[in-house]
Amino acid sequence: MSVFPGVASELGDAPPVGVDHPDATSAGVQPATLRVLVVDDDDVDRMTVTRGLRRAGIPAAVDEAATTAEALRLVATHRYDCVFLDYNIPGGNGATLLCGIKGAGMGVPVVMLTGQGDEKVAVELMKAGATDYLPKAGLSPERLAQSLRYAVELARASDAAKRSDADRRASAERTSRLQLVTERLSAALSEGDVAALFLGEVRAAVAADTAWLAVVDTRRGVMRALGSAGYVAETARRFEELPLDAKMPANDVVHDAHPRTYPSRAALVAAYPDLRDALDGIDQEAVAILPLVAGGTPFGVMSLGFRVERVLDEADLAFTLALARQCAQALERARLYEAERSSRAAAEAARREAEDANRTKSEFLARMSHDLRTPLNAIGGYAELIEIGVHGPVTAGQRESLARVRRAQQHLLTLINDILSFARLEAGQVQIVTSDVLVAPLLAELGTLLQPQAETRGLSLLIDAGPPELMIRADRERVLQVLLNLGTNALKFTPHGEIRIEALADDTELVSLRVSDSGIGIPLERLTSIFDPFTQVHGTAAEREGGVGLGLAISRELAQRMGGALSVESAEQQGSRFTVLLPRGAARST
Ligand code: ADP
Repeated sequence: MSVFPGVASELGDAPPVGVDHPDATSAGVQPATLRVLVVDDDDVDRMTVTRGLRRAGIPAAVDEAATTAEALRLVATHRYDCVFLDYNIPGGNGATLLCGIKGAGMGVPVVMLTGQGDEKVAVELMKAGATDYLPKAGLSPERLAQSLRYAVELARASDAAKRSDADRRASAERTSRLQLVTERLSAALSEGDVAALFLGEVRAAVAADTAWLAVVDTRRGVMRALGSAGYVAETARRFEELPLDAKMPANDVVHDAHPRTYPSRAALVAAYPDLRDALDGIDQEAVAILPLVAGGTPFGVMSLGFRVERVLDEADLAFTLALARQCAQALERARLYEAERSSRAAAEAARREAEDANRTKSEFLARMSHDLRTPLNAIGGYAELIEIGVHGPVTAGQRESLARVRRAQQHLLTLINDILSFARLEAGQVQIVTSDVLVAPLLAELGTLLQPQAETRGLSLLIDAGPPELMIRADRERVLQVLLNLGTNALKFTPHGEIRIEALADDTELVSLRVSDSGIGIPLERLTSIFDPFTQVHGTAAEREGGVGLGLAISRELAQRMGGALSVESAEQQGSRFTVLLPRGAARST
């Protein structure tokens, strides 16, 4: 008999007596207590059947009915293995009564007792559902026994067919329950969700009265309950945490990953005598304790209990184990999800912290550069006032010192400006507003800015702006800042020769703005690091003329922010070529 819903036999909880014992006696049937009803109005005929059965050695309990009403009452209230029915019973047609008896007796086999030579009637009765027919005349014990055996075997075969039908239905119902539970469990995102589903859906799927879900907490040496149901509050509290070294089935299940089932409280106490007192006050007889396993390692148990004594059959165990597997997977998923969520939260917190730190840094830099620039400007201004003789005549020595003061002041100012620009860029505080920019006027303006320095250094400055209509898509101020930086570098690092600035456009959607020089060049191994902040390749501070190694880092960042790029080609003593690549503007040159 099955414990769970959908598995109970169609035949009810009590199987037909005798059907489970197919072994035969000399007469071929030896049920422990077959129950037979003989329906006949004739006392002698009834006696003949009863005696015949006894003589055949069949230990049958025989009831007798002399009327149709009595017969119907008996089959409705007792469970018979076979009814012997007189066809010619007064007060009713034999065939009608046959149907009535079969209906009231839930398909009980009926053997008809007919008169001699009633072959036609017999055929009709067989069609109407009689299991067999026996002519009354010359009724032998052997023939009676044979007919009874046949009836019982037929009933047994039909019961078996019904049972396997019921099993099929039960297994289909389990499959759909399992699917439903699996679906719900797969959406569970926390231990709490899984516990709630376990105590609700999983418990209902097996019709358990009590349920307990617990996981091992090795750090604290306990089995920690994630949830329980069906226990009184005091018991539930006691089961919240149980020591891992206690002698109890849950610990053994976790230890060897084997399920344990006990059909009754007595069986459980026999296996774990220490539990006798602990089980007091718990309304539970049968119990199944199943392991929760993840990655081959048991990490908890689920326990399902029943108020009545029950034996879990193989199918029940397979079903509960499948449920345990689903719960274990859901718990593992929830654990991974929670770990992932907390690591994401930690990463998010770290990002916010970094952003805060960055903001603090740029605020500090902005404040510092302002605080430094004000006195620096004052230094420059006062030096200039002295230089022009506002405070009286200036000697040649004083003039030279003043020039040094002004150079140092300029150097510091450049340094502070670069650091501030870089900090603001890094903090994402620089807004880039792109528009279509004509290249020719842009390069002309650049030429105007660079020309004085070129002349001072005796360098020739050549500008080729390409077709006059050539446009780039850029932030004009920023692209000018980049080109000015590249041009200044070219002038700084070119002792003699020329600086060439040109715009190149081909069929692509990009325009190259190129600054080339015939200067000292850059060693091959430094070409990749040249754009890193605070990188300087060449010699003394005087040679570098006040830079801090931020110009190229800022320039590349700006080029990229405008959807472009900045690259370099160079060889030592053979000059350098920096190329700013930018998107072409809307009005294309022809
Ligand atoms: P800085 O302000 O110090 O010049 P940059 O980032 O603009 O900083 O340049 C970094 C370094 O790259 C320079 O110090 C120099 O060593 C090298 N460099 C830049 N442009 C040139 C060039 N045109 N020729 C040779 N070296 C260059």
